[in-house]
Amino acid sequence: MARYIFITGGVVSSLGKGLMAASLGALLQARGYKVRIRKFDPYLNVDPGTMSPYQHGEVYVTDDGAETDLDLGHYERFTGVSARQSDNVTSGRIYQQIITRERRGDYLGATVQVIPHVTDAIKAFALADQGDHDFILCEIGGTVGDIESLPFMEAIRQLRNELEPDQTLSVHVTLVPYIAAAGELKTKPTQHSVRELASLGIKPDILLCRAEHPIPESDRRKIAQFCNVRPEAVIPALDASSIYAVPLQYHGEGLDDEVLRGFGITDAPAPDLSRWYDIVDRYENPEGEVTIGVVGKYVGLQDAYKSLNEALVHGGMANRVKVKIKWIDAEVFEQDDDAIAAQLEPMHAILVPGGFGERGSEGKIASVRFARERNVPFFGICLGMQMACIEAARSAGNANASSTEFGPTDQPVVGLITEWMTAEGLQKREAGGDLGGTMRLGAYEAVLTGNSHVSGVYGGAARISERHRHRYEVNAAYREPLERDGLVFSGMSPDGLLPEIVERPDHPWFIGVQFHPELKSKPFAPHPLFAGFIAAALRQSRLV
Ligand code: GLN
Repeated sequence: MARYIFITGGVVSSLGKGLMAASLGALLQARGYKVRIRKFDPYLNVDPGTMSPYQHGEVYVTDDGAETDLDLGHYERFTGVSARQSDNVTSGRIYQQIITRERRGDYLGATVQVIPHVTDAIKAFALADQGDHDFILCEIGGTVGDIESLPFMEAIRQLRNELEPDQTLSVHVTLVPYIAAAGELKTKPTQHSVRELASLGIKPDILLCRAEHPIPESDRRKIAQFCNVRPEAVIPALDASSIYAVPLQYHGEGLDDEVLRGFGITDAPAPDLSRWYDIVDRYENPEGEVTIGVVGKYVGLQDAYKSLNEALVHGGMANRVKVKIKWIDAEVFEQDDDAIAAQLEPMHAILVPGGFGERGSEGKIASVRFARERNVPFFGICLGMQMACIEAARSAGNANASSTEFGPTDQPVVGLITEWMTAEGLQKREAGGDLGGTMRLGAYEAVLTGNSHVSGVYGGAARISERHRHRYEVNAAYREPLERDGLVFSGMSPDGLLPEIVERPDHPWFIGVQFHPELKSKPFAPHPLFAGFIAAALRQSRLV
């Protein structure tokens, strides 16, 4: 049976628990263990799919079609283990399940309560699908003391009682703030947080203390004494030079040793961290620099494009260059034509990412036009590919070309997908249906045209599988006129009905994809589309 590591957070939010869980997972994996990381989100949404990116950051999509928390992206990037639906649960999903059962009469007249019904459902989720994993890391969203996370804390308390004593471990992430006026680090918030956790019946085994300044040995001992842990189990977690340096840093502070000790494991193999040294070296010692303009809507919050940001960095690692990203608000272009050239001219490549809704769409279309006319490398992702097709139709004289997502149009170059094939059979959707969980989600295959640019990018592959999240689709009825005008449909769904990839053979690098390749890129295995795109940007940088 797997061993369980429960990760909670205290004092403040945004301590980077997700990154911490991902890093610990990577360190255990480097010792040859099989790990899986799960996220428990206490909010009442069934999943983050319907939440605004401003509220929740990016929605991370798994192969099996789940819309999940962006922390699952960290987990997957750091461990290479593909996340699944069963790796993310919310209070909303648990309540939905319980209430559906209650309405069916499954509880046989019993009173349905938080304890035991909700806590049982949380425990069942934690224990499900263990496979042959050595460690399952469970990160609890939110901060200890939140009302909504109480059932999760209670479930952990129960699990720690029910599983074997050496089968679970509690890691608590806290903040040790620096008070400039006093010139001191303060341990009191950590003490309070641990007390709060203890009042819920959970005694932490390891404290991971985020701090901006090194924690002196005396403070480390003080925290240990007041919080009832060994001094070695107080792990300082200082800000790292990059997220990819975090596993090495935590290893240096003894985190994985302390975790193994906590489980009583004395014969663990030494970790092989060579791939981490390699990527940190690539990241920290670039041999050049490119600037990529990302023209989107949610540019005020980088978490909204988390995976995209990382995939661009990976593309940089593949080419040993630093990638500077200029986040450009597409709406700026809608108001002022001159702004387009002024903002885009310094860019070595242009990317239009995924997005929803009409706002900013004219600015995105204008960016596609700029990239096409000026021969600047262009990468369109999901909505970005749709905008590339609308731009192509308009430039070919179809002035009304649009998407039905933006309102009624008599030239629906992009329209609602109402039917598509899945492994489970035909999926059907109607306009005006539920918004949650009803998009074309998860892994679907695409068949690539031989000799196309994109098949070359994928190393000559004839078929690929990528993750999707969209409700609209380029209308295949426009394929012929668009191809006549130079936009080639070089990837289609296996049934030949849904356009998956477009490209321009007469352009240095112009590719639009209906899927989200950024979700599968890893620092150790940069996605070929991002590696190719950054290579094209590098060539462009040498021209200008
Ligand atoms: N809004 C578009 C659609 O639903 C694109 C979605 C996306 O970019 N993820 O098809």
